[in-house]
Order: sequence, then structure tokens, then C-alpha cells
Amino acid sequence: MIQNTRIQNLNEHTRRPAGAYVLYWMQEAQRARGNAALEMAIRGANRYGLPVVVCFGLMDGYPEANARHYAFMLDGLSDCAKELETRGIAFVIRHGMPVDVALSLSQNAAAVICDRSYMPAQREWRRMLAEAATCPVVQVETEVVVPVDVASDKSEYAARTIRPRIHRVWDEYLVPLDETEPEIRADALTLESDFDLTDPSGVLAALDLDRTVKPVKRFRGGRVAALEMLNRFLDDVLDGYAKGRNEPSAAQTSFLSPYLHFGHISPVEMALAARDSGIGATEDRGSFIEELVVRRELAMNYANFAPGFETYDALPDWAKKTLSEHAGDEREYVYTSDVLEACKTHDTHWNDAMREMVHTGFMHNYMRMYWAKKILEWSATPEDAFNTTLALNNKYFLDGRDPNSYANVAWCFGLHDRAWTERPVFGKIRYMNANGLNRKFDMAAYRAFVDRAVDAEA
Ligand SMILES: Cc1cc2nc3c(=O)[nH]c(=O)nc-3n(C[C@H](O)[C@H](O)[C@H](O)COP(=O)(O)OP(=O)(O)OC[C@H]3O[C@@H](n4cnc5c(N)ncnc54)[C@H](O)[C@@H]3O)c2cc1C
Repeated sequence: MIQNTRIQNLNEHTRRPAGAYVLYWMQEAQRARGNAALEMAIRGANRYGLPVVVCFGLMDGYPEANARHYAFMLDGLSDCAKELETRGIAFVIRHGMPVDVALSLSQNAAAVICDRSYMPAQREWRRMLAEAATCPVVQVETEVVVPVDVASDKSEYAARTIRPRIHRVWDEYLVPLDETEPEIRADALTLESDFDLTDPSGVLAALDLDRTVKPVKRFRGGRVAALEMLNRFLDDVLDGYAKGRNEPSAAQTSFLSPYLHFGHISPVEMALAARDSGIGATEDRGSFIEELVVRRELAMNYANFAPGFETYDALPDWAKKTLSEHAGDEREYVYTSDVLEACKTHDTHWNDAMREMVHTGFMHNYMRMYWAKKILEWSATPEDAFNTTLALNNKYFLDGRDPNSYANVAWCFGLHDRAWTERPVFGKIRYMNANGLNRKFDMAAYRAFVDRAVDAEA
């Protein structure tokens, strides 16, 4: 089912009777299955006796995106094109601003369906489309278990405040999406695409984009790879997740965040798969669902409700106050971005984490915390530290540029956290040090893991 609370009419228009198809403007949910927005388009098209068209606007130089991100996304779009074709749905990929591509194809649509984003530029594009289109534009919230406005109506203070709100309603949303097949195939439509997705690397080569950060071999994008990862996770990793997830060398997490970021897999299907698997202890399944639903959707809440959430200014007042009181403290080390990106600090654990990030597009969650805390310790000012951390996060991580990026970087600077014992530079912000890593984890094994992962990219 598609819960009504996932659906919003973005304008007042009624269906265009002469429309030749129902259009789904795909952006956040880049998948041909487990996608409530696509499902809504199919049901509408079946009701009107029309085919379904899915469109995607592929632009050069998307802000902060580079060849690494594009390559992963194009793998996903390639999977999507194949699956849509087998379902009798036309997939049109055109060169240009996503909103322009959607608006142009909306001219012949009976109605347009879009997915929901919490990022400012995408929200603005949806507003522009809804205003300019002459047919209905309907938004379906596909990328969360509990719709953000159902979970809360304000920026939540911490996980502990959003958790009960999510738990109260999540049974209603943790249900499979019943999928319908289109009754009218789109084969007769002649809508040209600008790119041939049977050759994603050819498409990548044709785009004008930042190529300074290379694609990685560690992660192939797309729904096929995402489902393989999910199955690997259920079969080999979920049992013991609650205890193992923090060990950086254990590979005991799902590695699905890049796929969630590009919408190659649905959080609802992931949560259901884990919950209903019967694998591991209740604690393992609960811990995974806590990360996937409560923690992840706290980030969506932050992006949706906190003005300027991408900036240092959006940090809680107590955090900015304590950081500013310690802004003049002497720093033992101050590193430029160049030294950080070259993985050449005095701290070998940090360098290992940075190597994992630069070369493979990923880093273990525990190391991400350590990594960001050290940038705070080694920057001239807390504002510099925040901006450097976010910039590196978004440049190298496949899952970067996500609400989760902003909320988690901000967490390292006090967001959704509490005050701790005061100390130099950090003030009352939570501190981490290498002794903690050495005490709790097998850091030699983490280094060996990073060595292997980096070598595999060569
Ligand atoms: C400084 C810092 C930067 C981060 N940057 C990003 C980022 O750019 N993009 C991103 O998606 N995540 C980010 N995270 C959160 C977290 O590290 C990753 O989501 C997680 O490591 C992804 O690995 P996984 O898919 O194997 O996670 P699993 O352990 O398998 O968890 C399943 C899913 O739950 C969600 N999740 C897990 N941990 C968290 C968390 N702490 N907060 C919110 N959601 C979580 C993710 O969507 C993840 O895919 C960051 C964390 C920190 C401390």
C-alpha cells in the first residue's frame, strides 16, 4: 500500500485529458522496484488507460558531485533502464537541468509524479515544476520509513526525542509495497533519450564534470548490486551486528549507505528484510533498524526542519558557545586540506581512515567519528574544521551530499549530542582519542583491511 501521508499535491491542477502518458520524474528514488512514486504513477496510468514514462535529467557538473559519484549513479540508472523496459515503461534520460527535463516532458503528461527530497535545491526544483506545469504534480515520499512530517513537526533535539515518535507509528509504514504492472505498454511512444545507458562508461566520458576523484571498484552502483549486498548482509553479517558493527576491521555492517543515498534500494524493503529474516538475535535486528530508521530519519528531520542545516550556524547554541570560548586555545597540530587529503598527518589511524575514504569512497562509521573529531582538533578554528570536514565528506564518500552527511558531521560538533567534560579546543564537545581506538579495536587488522582495499583499487 501507499499510505496517504506519503502523498502531497504540489499544485491545484486537475488531470490533463489529452495527456499521452503519466510521467514519473525520477530523482531521489533511482530504482524500478520498491518505489512508491513509480507505483503511484503506474496506478494512475492504469486508471487513465495510459502508459507510464519515467524521466531523468542528467546535468553536467552537479554541485559537489564528481566522476566517482556519477559513475556509481550511472550504474544505477543503467539497471533502472533495463528493468523499466521489461516492465513496459519508457525511460527517457535527457541532458539538462532535472527540472527543465521534467517540465518539458510534462507538456504531454496527464499528470506528473515526483519523489521527495529534503535538500534545498531539489525542494526548489519541485516547487518550480509545480508552479510552471499545467497538469497535476504529486509528490510521493519514498526514501524514509516514516514520512518526515508524520514523525515530527520540528527539528528534533536528539535521537532520544525522535525515537518514541517514530516507534509510535512505524508499524503503519513497515509494510511491503504491493506492486502493480502497467496495463498499457509504452512501446508505441517515440520519446528520444540523449544517452545510451547500455554503456554507462560512455555516458560518463561524455559529461563535463570534475574528474579529480576517480570512480571506485569497491562499490558497483545499482539495484542489482544493492540486493546482492543486502543478501550478503542478511546471510553473513546481521547475526552479531549489534556487537560487531563498531569494530572497524570487521566489515560487520551492510555497506548500503551509498545505495540508500542514490535511491537504489528502499529503506522500507531493507528494514522489512532485516526484521522478518529471523536471523541473529532480536538485539541485532533491533540495532540495525535503529540505525536505518531512527538515526537516518533523524538526519532527514534535521535537513527538513533546521534552517541552514548545511552550515556551522545551524549547530546548537551551547555547542557554538563552547567552541567559540575555546577557539583561541593553542592547537598542537594544524593541518591544511592538502596534508589531510594526502593522508600525511602524524596520526596513523587517522591516515588509514582517510586512505579508506580517498581511495575507496567509504569509511567505517566509528572511524568517521574519530576522523571528524581530529579535524576539529587540528584546525585553526571550529568553523574551518566544520567546513573542511563537510567538504571532504562530500568530495570522497559515495554516500556524501546526503542529509546524513550534514547531520553526522554536525553531530561531531555537538548536534543531537550533549555537553561533556570541558577540555581544550573541544570545550564541552565530545572528545575521542587514539587510545580509545587501541583499547577497543584491532587497529592492526583495520590497517591491513585498508591496505587490501586500497591495493584493490590500483
Ligand atoms: C563524521 C561522519 C560523517 C558521516 N557521513 C555520512 C554520509 O555522508 N552519508 C551517510 O549516509 N552516512 C554518513 N555517516 C553515518 C554513518 O557513518 C554511515 O551511514 C554508515 O557508516 C554507513 O555504513 P553502512 O551502510 O554499512 O551502515 P549500517 O551499519 O549497515 O547501517 C544501515 C544504515 O543505517 C544508516 N546509518 C548507520 N549509521 C548511521 C548514523 N550514525 N547516522 C545516521 N544513519 C546511520 C545508514 O543509512 C546505513 O546505511 C557519517 C557519520 C559520521 C560520524
